[in-house]
Amino acid sequence: MKKIAILGSTGSIGTQTVDILPSIEAEVVALTTNTRIDLLEKQARALQPKMVCAFDETAAKTLKIALADTDIKVLAGMEGLISCAAESGADIVVTAVVGMVGLLPTMAAINAGKDIALANKETLVCAGELVMRAAQEKHVKILPVDSEHSAIFQCAQAAQGNRLEKIILTASGGPFFGKTAEQMRHVSREQALAHPNWSMGAKITIDSATMMNKGLEFIEAMWLYDMAPEDIEIVVHRESIVHSLVEFEDGAVLAQLGLPDMRLPIQYALTYPARVACKVPRLSLAEVGKMTFFAPDYDAFPALSLAKRAAQEKGNMGAVLNGANEAAVGLFLNDKIAFGEIADRVAHALETVPYRKQITLDDVLESDRLAREIARS
Ligand code: NDP
Ligand code: MG
Repeated sequence: MKKIAILGSTGSIGTQTVDILPSIEAEVVALTTNTRIDLLEKQARALQPKMVCAFDETAAKTLKIALADTDIKVLAGMEGLISCAAESGADIVVTAVVGMVGLLPTMAAINAGKDIALANKETLVCAGELVMRAAQEKHVKILPVDSEHSAIFQCAQAAQGNRLEKIILTASGGPFFGKTAEQMRHVSREQALAHPNWSMGAKITIDSATMMNKGLEFIEAMWLYDMAPEDIEIVVHRESIVHSLVEFEDGAVLAQLGLPDMRLPIQYALTYPARVACKVPRLSLAEVGKMTFFAPDYDAFPALSLAKRAAQEKGNMGAVLNGANEAAVGLFLNDKIAFGEIADRVAHALETVPYRKQITLDDVLESDRLAREIARS
């Protein structure tokens, strides 16, 4: 029985992780939420973890009362999140919280020798260098949950020690494919939240609309697979059937295909190297009929170039890109700024926060703080 901690169990990835649990042999030892304590209580009663955490302190107090008749430990805040990651007795930690709030718990889990099923891409964008180094030192596996990175991971198993020459990341293109920056500038929150293929949390859905999500994934792939930015290509694939591809030195290109459903990559991260039956409906290529591919439009989606620039510069620029983006997306979701302003504010933060090549965890936290401040001002 694998012991699993799920950070962010009440979110889109978190609930889908809970959904596939019956397919795998697993015992849940920890669950966390921010404020959705009704759902967390339900999950806790069903799965009987050792501990749970509500990041929000007020929510945690209510949750503690709700679970008073059980012997489940109820924790709060960052400290609680870190305990759930590192001290719950987990073998593997699913990082399904949204945002750079996942960084410290992920680092704590790695330092405690836990494998990571990584959904929380912001962690790698902010501190990929530090996270991958720590994982290597602690002999910890970072197993990708993100569908593109899972596809690359699955294809790369054919490498047999040969070098990957190129990674080709597919992108759905989001709800605004084919529009110009001008046409997109004042789209509404509802329009931006209407993703054509995937149902996900609000933040990543907005990132998909700006295509910052693909920029974040570009950086995520760079760190996960130790690739140079020049060797990572992005291609828009509207149907989200080909989840990504790898190219070898002889020019052979391998892809992983499937219907757009996160439960397969989540499950594979938890059962790797084994494959077990999965609830996800099977792919019928005849039903799909036609698949289309396009070069990305860098003029319409400036977030892509901003992320590529942060990938080239490395150092603290990933943290700046991500911090500014999280703040700007938050402003957009609260109707404070226009859609087109998200990328403007990220660009401004990249220009303004001083560049640091060598970074520590403290530098990452400080760059994140500064970037958010600039993006909000
Ligand atoms: P959701 O917003 O649906 O869920 C996020 C989870 O984190 C919830 O449990 C939420 O609690 C919790 N949370 C939110 N804010 C905080 C905080 N400040 N401190 C602690 N916990 C917090 O996000 P998704 O599931 O969509 O995404 C999670 C991660 O997975 C992201 O990094 C995303 O990029 C990545 N990912 C998601 C995919 C998807 O299909 N959804 C696909 C690939 C990657 P509460 O319920 O109270 O809000
Ligand atoms: Mg993805």
